Amino acid sequence: MARVYNFNAGPAVLPLEALEHARDEMLDFAGSGMSILECSHRGKEYEAAHNEALEGIRSLLGVPPDYAVLFLQGGASLQFAMVPMNLLGKGQTADYVNSGSWASKAIKEAKLIGNVHIAADTSKEIPTRIPREDELRFSENPAYVHITSNETIAGTQWKRFPETRAPLVADMSSDILSRPVDVSAFGLIYAGAQKNLAPAGVTLVIIRKDLAERAPENLPTMLKYRAHIEENSLYNTPPCFGVYFIALVTRWVKKTGLENLYRRNVEKAAKLYAAIDNSGGFYRGTAAKECRSDMNVTFRLQNEALEEAFIKEAARQGMKGLKGHRSVGGIRASIYNAFPVEGIDSLVAFMKEFQRKNG
Ligand SMILES: *Cc1c(COP(=O)(O)O)cnc(C)c1O
Repeated sequence: MARVYNFNAGPAVLPLEALEHARDEMLDFAGSGMSILECSHRGKEYEAAHNEALEGIRSLLGVPPDYAVLFLQGGASLQFAMVPMNLLGKGQTADYVNSGSWASKAIKEAKLIGNVHIAADTSKEIPTRIPREDELRFSENPAYVHITSNETIAGTQWKRFPETRAPLVADMSSDILSRPVDVSAFGLIYAGAQKNLAPAGVTLVIIRKDLAERAPENLPTMLKYRAHIEENSLYNTPPCFGVYFIALVTRWVKKTGLENLYRRNVEKAAKLYAAIDNSGGFYRGTAAKECRSDMNVTFRLQNEALEEAFIKEAARQGMKGLKGHRSVGGIRASIYNAFPVEGIDSLVAFMKEFQRKNG
């Protein structure tokens, strides 16, 4: 079996162990005589997986008891709308930090719902960067403050979260479970699963329960956090396979330990950034050094023709998915939790060889 080094930004590489486990019990899940794909979401077999996924997230992130963990659908993109629909009352203002493409999308949706104040905007800057804490200008009394913990396209990441009086809301789609976080510092955390958690189709939401009380009565049930809290994410059919896979992934993370995984992630990224910085300008990082992402390493070569050749040749050597996002071009190596260290070494060796041939 030839598995490539998968640098895709999302859907992305998943732990081999979890994939193998899912494969092994695909035809007969937990003695049910059917696959997880065919089980009732009200049956005891699925229920066990659902509870294991909830417990896995809770214990790994130390989610306090006054927070709910939810498995929803619609991706992070639906959260762009659900957050203001539930948390932004009439006449109130929500503060958003615009750190790049994903923050911009969240802002666009929030503006459809209510008043938005931009606390800082670095979205058009090159090199790409996250605003410094001393640049943040909050409004008088915001309903919440929204940030994007890792800008998947720009390759930037908050290294220290801002302290805010209002509840802090974070889109952690591309770095959830890649490092320990203090959940109690947030009002709400959300993440599409397809980068660090599971296949696409399930969205993780961690919400301080009192915030769910803000939602207007007439908000449709499926859009209301309160309803999903009351039904333990089983108001309707949940994305069963995705939730089951979160259980497998959290099992895998527990084995390594989140702290160890974090340390490994930092080391992986540091190796690639060192390869960029030591190339004498042949490779150029696109993010400001102090906010370089540990998840998405973005860089450029002298010209697009060379970048295209780089991507093509790397793919030929079993390193796939290195093309930067279509909106910015360049190279992007997405190296989430499940991306192996050997794949980093392989890319570093390839970078040197490519430079030797083309430099
Ligand atoms: C991928 C991504 C999204 C979009 O997620 P969907 O699940 O496709 O809606 C949003 N925010 C960030 C930071 C992402 O990386």
